Amino acid sequence: MTPAEPGRQPATLYVGMGSNVGDRLAALQAALARLARTTGVTVEAVSPVYQTEAHVLPGAAPQPDHLNAAARLRVALAPHALLDVLRKTERAAGRDHEAPRWSPRPLDLDVLLWNREAFETERLTVPHPRMEARRFVLAPLADLAPEAEIPGRGTAADLLARCTDGARVERFPGALTVPPPPHREPR
Ligand code: ATP
Ligand code: MG
Ligand code: MG
Repeated sequence: MTPAEPGRQPATLYVGMGSNVGDRLAALQAALARLARTTGVTVEAVSPVYQTEAHVLPGAAPQPDHLNAAARLRVALAPHALLDVLRKTERAAGRDHEAPRWSPRPLDLDVLLWNREAFETERLTVPHPRMEARRFVLAPLADLAPEAEIPGRGTAADLLARCTDGARVERFPGALTVPPPPHREPR
């Protein structure tokens, strides 16, 4: 159980979600449900879903398409505690963290934005350093929060308008829903 930090000022986060193995929509929805059950985390909103062409390293084999979405969370946890929650959620979906970077995966959860802050630790860089070059990140984020501010870079809508990523990104017919908040007995 993650220690929620009573009294910690809650932060507004945007998280990028992706899946390109197995039942992709179910994996994204299960991740939202798990996050919503986590003490210190509230799932506030979720974007439409996009089906997107996988970015692969030059010379690497093509990969199946991803489903991608973005979610807005309200979080009363320290950044590394939240990262641990995301990693556990990925593992619960069957993600092998020993697999080579950028291999096909049932779930990827990345912190895109944390309030309007910019910071870097050995485990976490915020804003996500590659988001600007990824239409599959910016398209759902700009649907959910066109005015969200990327520190020093402009809004999500600005970044999407400037993005030169030519990989295919199209709306997917299935939708994600915000899970109901868990019922907690008053203490
Ligand atoms: P990419 O970061 O290019 O999207 P990826 O999501 O596949 O690649 P992962 O294997 O999920 O990369 O994560 C690798 C490491 O990146 C993690 O162990 C984590 O500590 C670190 N990391 C740094 N910044 C972030 C961030 N903003 N969100 C999530 N992980 C981050
Ligand atoms: Mg990623
Ligand atoms: Mg990741």
